[in-house]
Amino acid sequence: MSIAAVYFGDDLGRYGFGDGHPFGPDRLFAFWAETVKQNLDKQVSIMTPVACDEKSLLQFHTQEYIDRVKQASVTGSGYLDSGDTPAFKGVFEAGSYVVGSDLDAIQRMISGETPRIFVPIAGLHHARRDSAAGFCAFNDCGIIIETLRQKYGIQRIAYVDIDAHHGDGVFYAFESDPDVIFADIHEDGRYLYPGTGFADETGKGNARGTKLNIPVDPGSDDTVFHQIWPQVEDFLIEFKPEIILLQAGADSIEGDPITHMRFSPAAHGHAAKHLVQIADEYCQGRILAMGGGGYNLNNLALGWNEVLKALITG
Ligand SMILES: [Zn+2]
Repeated sequence: MSIAAVYFGDDLGRYGFGDGHPFGPDRLFAFWAETVKQNLDKQVSIMTPVACDEKSLLQFHTQEYIDRVKQASVTGSGYLDSGDTPAFKGVFEAGSYVVGSDLDAIQRMISGETPRIFVPIAGLHHARRDSAAGFCAFNDCGIIIETLRQKYGIQRIAYVDIDAHHGDGVFYAFESDPDVIFADIHEDGRYLYPGTGFADETGKGNARGTKLNIPVDPGSDDTVFHQIWPQVEDFLIEFKPEIILLQAGADSIEGDPITHMRFSPAAHGHAAKHLVQIADEYCQGRILAMGGGGYNLNNLALGWNEVLKALITG
């Protein structure tokens, strides 16, 4: 067993939309070709994707919404939301493999088998408890936060998000929860979907101060990244989380077709590497990285593999 693991297999790759949609079903394979090219596949445990059961989806989503996705999955027509997230035949099953792989990953982490795990395609951070949004059917991030609580008794969970888009589906679900330590660097909501995540959104009620939203200007590059990144580290260390979740969306890398950010793959590697160090110090090494967005296949391949490399080498 190596210190790091990655999920790879057809069942995970199936979550994606056809017909020229930016979130295509080819993303997993673009990532994996680069993994093999860099020989990283020889240095990790390769895990087979696993489907989750409906009970797991209910940890976060409403029954009514789950039923709606199940129905749309049979017909494969129409949208799951108001126009960003088309239904496709098998979307329910494909989404279940994303969630199930995450759940399998945290089980392996908690049991002590493998502390650092990467699940590409996962990190569907826009879905709400009762609706799809922004290419996301089931919010695997929300489901694993709830599962870590309810099944494993883990309270203090850090969620770090470097995707170009604000992780609104996670943020608003846990806005009033003082034990979800949330840090999110994203393109300013005045310029990019979903239009949220302003600096004054720091959590509600007794959760005030447990959320760190860092919106950055369109065109922000690595200089900006390195100016703000230490804030994320200081913030996490202050709360001493028991586990770290990283949503490593590659759409914040320069050249993405639907955002205006200019980070490099190396910035993503830097983030992952430093989170591994914090996980080693405070979280018994436990860090789950999820692929998140990324619609330029080359960027996605390079950015996600920088993250995977950081999990392998620390
Ligand atoms: Zn994104």
